[in-house]
Amino acid sequence: MLARLVLLLLAVAALAQPAAFSPAVRAFIKVDAPVIALTNARIIDGTGAPAKENQTLILRGGSVAEIGDAARVKPPDGATVIDLTGKSVIPGLVMVHEHLYYPTGPGVYGQLGESFVRLYLAGGVTTIRTGGNVNGFMDLKLKQLIEAGQQPGPAIDATAPYLNGPNTFLQMRDMKDADEARKHVAYWADMGATSFKAYMQISRAQLGAAVDEAHKRGLKVTGHLCSVTYREAADLGIDNLEHGFLASTDFVADKQPDACPGQAGGQRTIAALDPDGAPFKALVKTLVDKKVALTSTLTVFETFTPGRPMPPGLDVLLPPLRQQFEQNYQRTAQSQNSVYTTLFPKALALERAFAQAGGTLLAGTDPTGGGGVIPGYSNQRQLELLVEAGFTPLEAIRIGSLNGATYLGRQARVGSIAVGKQADLVVIDGDPSKTIADVRKVDTVFKHGVGFDPAKLIAAVSGKVGLW
Ligand SMILES: [Zn+2]
Repeated sequence: MLARLVLLLLAVAALAQPAAFSPAVRAFIKVDAPVIALTNARIIDGTGAPAKENQTLILRGGSVAEIGDAARVKPPDGATVIDLTGKSVIPGLVMVHEHLYYPTGPGVYGQLGESFVRLYLAGGVTTIRTGGNVNGFMDLKLKQLIEAGQQPGPAIDATAPYLNGPNTFLQMRDMKDADEARKHVAYWADMGATSFKAYMQISRAQLGAAVDEAHKRGLKVTGHLCSVTYREAADLGIDNLEHGFLASTDFVADKQPDACPGQAGGQRTIAALDPDGAPFKALVKTLVDKKVALTSTLTVFETFTPGRPMPPGLDVLLPPLRQQFEQNYQRTAQSQNSVYTTLFPKALALERAFAQAGGTLLAGTDPTGGGGVIPGYSNQRQLELLVEAGFTPLEAIRIGSLNGATYLGRQARVGSIAVGKQADLVVIDGDPSKTIADVRKVDTVFKHGVGFDPAKLIAAVSGKVGLW
């Protein structure tokens, strides 16, 4: 019986593996063998448990077959052996506020799916949820092409085009009523979307209808809200809220139902909020009680904040896009009375307080805003910012791996390093359990047991991100 179960599990694992990689994808692969032994590694397993030194991992058929002390676990005959002395292995990152588009001009978001999926994988991200889509079918198509081995990239939990009421975004639908919200969810779910994102001008009736239709299909809804408060959304059954507390309008004194008082209006109240005060604690309790997860996207807010370092990865951008961001950066640096001077540190404190109160914190990057949030690089930066917020490096890695996988319902296969799980692993040339910035030193990214070369993935798009 057990043998039959094992065979069945192996068959399921084999199904999820691409039948064959195209020659174009093969060019990015540096390790591909039936049995691989990663020896003498430091393992940071993604659960928050302490790092273990001198471990050997045996990868077989795309999964982790064995883990143990290097002195005990010996590479099987014929295995490809890779000595990782001095290096660490962390789980492939699972990040949930990702996009396959980027601000290219005023109010316009260019569809950069092909370059972005390479950058995500190069940065150690093996699973993404796209947190909102202005590409129509592109997120879905890329997900399918990656699964078929025709494109390199992370596994994609593909989000439908945004759910929004009347709005001024060129690439976003204006839904008139709750019936349209229900139909939007039904159509895109039928097309293969597995997540939904509500946006700033949605009404309570539309959000409620969307949540109801998505839940009927076993799918989840997240939101970057404004017109609907966090508490209202929690009462309507939303699963996840984006941008920590920076999109909350719960504390706006004259807030009108179903109307967005402006992002800035909400943010002024958050900047003034006391993390130890009763109003904030009551909201946190509601979110925790209703099991609403919160996504931290500190990376995008850092780009709005004066005095912060230049974000990593700008070299990959097309020169005009790079210059555009550098000009934005200079403007931000000179801004004398930006709300972000107080809001950004407050964002860190509120997210930490939410997690300490038992809330589920997820991580994402949000490559939007005024630019400068570069896939892959920004996922690593997001982990650094969580540590700046007060989490230990082990906790930050867990937020960026197992927490995301658990939210997406994929934790049986990915999100942590364990026997039987898919071999989605990042080899790091350093020790991120002590120095989180070492996550930037990605040596190899294993996805389903196949090792990709980050340098080649980056080189293939460098200087051209913005074109495609
Ligand atoms: Zn976003």
